[in-house]
Amino acid sequence: MCIFDKIVSGEIPANKVLENDDFLAFHDINPKAPIHILIIPKAHFENFQTFPASQMGAMTEFIQQVAIAVGVDKTGYRLLTNCGENSGQEVMHLHFHLLGGTNLKWTGGENNPQETF
Ligand code: AMP
Repeated sequence: MCIFDKIVSGEIPANKVLENDDFLAFHDINPKAPIHILIIPKAHFENFQTFPASQMGAMTEFIQQVAIAVGVDKTGYRLLTNCGENSGQEVMHLHFHLLGGTNLKWTGGENNPQETF
């Protein structure tokens, strides 16, 4: 069982923002922006590459609801997912990072590989 499976089952606590039968949103334990939420499917998928396209519609609606719930739907936010080794993915359970609450810099990319956010 991965760490996010344990959050879904309640074995490990999380600071939850929103959930429904299929998805869960909670605060990142090590925030990289004033608002940093992780959004996951409750079912285990290793990363985006193995996530069924048929579930992306529902995931999209849920993410939009999370953005409203944390008050960044009007001010804007960044949404990203790390997928696989070269991305630096650490937790092998699909998660989207929703970052906001400030004017986010865009310094990532091949010229500055250490700066993700
Ligand atoms: P990634 O590098 O995309 O796999 O991101 C994993 C994220 O999970 C990191 O931002 C961590 O801070 C976060 N994280 C790891 N364990 C927990 C936890 N128990 N509760 C909340 N966030 C976590």
